[in-house]
Amino acid sequence: MEYPNLLPRFLKYVKVNSRSDEHSDRFPSTEREENFQKNVIMKDLEDLGLSDIHYNQKAGSVIAEIPSNVDYDVPVMGFLAHSDTADFNSENVKPQIHENYDGKSKIQLGDSEFYLDPKVFPHLKNYKGQTIITASGDTLLGGDDKCGVSELITFAEYLMNHPEVKHGKIRLAFTPDEEIGTGAEHFDVKDFGADFAFTVDGEAPGKLDWGTFSAAQFSLDIQGVNVHPAVAKGQMINAVQVGIDFHNQLPEHDRPEHTDGREGFFHLMSFNGTVDNAHLDYIIRDFERDGLEERKNLVKSIVDKMNAEFGTERIKLKMWDQYYNMADELKKHMDIVDLARDAYKAEGLKINEDPVRGGTDGSQLTYMGLPCPNIFAGEENMHGRYEYTVLESMYKAVDVMIQMAELNAERAK
Ligand SMILES: [Zn+2]
Repeated sequence: MEYPNLLPRFLKYVKVNSRSDEHSDRFPSTEREENFQKNVIMKDLEDLGLSDIHYNQKAGSVIAEIPSNVDYDVPVMGFLAHSDTADFNSENVKPQIHENYDGKSKIQLGDSEFYLDPKVFPHLKNYKGQTIITASGDTLLGGDDKCGVSELITFAEYLMNHPEVKHGKIRLAFTPDEEIGTGAEHFDVKDFGADFAFTVDGEAPGKLDWGTFSAAQFSLDIQGVNVHPAVAKGQMINAVQVGIDFHNQLPEHDRPEHTDGREGFFHLMSFNGTVDNAHLDYIIRDFERDGLEERKNLVKSIVDKMNAEFGTERIKLKMWDQYYNMADELKKHMDIVDLARDAYKAEGLKINEDPVRGGTDGSQLTYMGLPCPNIFAGEENMHGRYEYTVLESMYKAVDVMIQMAELNAERAK
């Protein structure tokens, strides 16, 4: 279905800079993000006449409710979209609309030297005859996740104006700081008050995410012994060399550049050092919780073995878990995943459930007691100047949400 207010709403939102900042001490991480939530999102929700609209300062989230229009109890469904955009220039975004795309030409980004080329980005070929929205070459678009934000609000607008569509109570949240990975931990599950929810922050129509990596991070601090190289024999311990020796004991194949699909990895993110001292930062990823534990144990055992050979704790290891594969929890709530599947099918979509080689806000929320898969929002090439979205994909996301609202009420009868 076409929703006439969706495109103008999206264009209005992407022009508002709401980039988050990982180096900030405040929460939400930037004032501009909070301003977007309070001065734009909240105002639009108020204009639509939603209930219980408020800003939960502790959670940094706008919360709102679409009241039930049936006289029986329906499990409360929620939808979430994040208000911030990724770490790329987001000052003065000038969205460009390319109608009736021919499915083969390069699309110039504004009058810049940059093009969206279907040879480089083959997904473009799927969008023949559709409306592509890009930025103008020097900024990101911000469709991640202003697609989700504008779709949630358009969904609410539709339900408020169509009382013949029957649904239970639906809760909406517009959250902060997803792109810097710190928003979800502040989320107020109780205030949100949903039994289950979906983040709306994904790729092409049909994509349904309910499996993610399980994730841990670790750092090594290595203390060397620096003596003059001329007389170093048997005395010098080069901290940089110790770091290299550690790294070489990890499985060579298990690196991001050698893995895909369901394979996990160890990723050396940074390595700084001198003879005297070296510091290494790694992340560990695995789809299986056991696999994550095995990888953590391998790291510990290499460090222990090396320290035993030194006869002292020359390598200091710090390791912590980041998030877990939501599939492990969601397997206990497959009715939620099935609700999304049924809505996709009703909309004639081919379902793609490839696991996410990353985490989502839902990974954390699911473990905080709010089961939370992710549905598509129509985002493509996230996080940079080549970002684009497709208007028809955004319409489809709203269609799916309306289906889910109806199906959920239908099931509770
Ligand atoms: Zn996102």
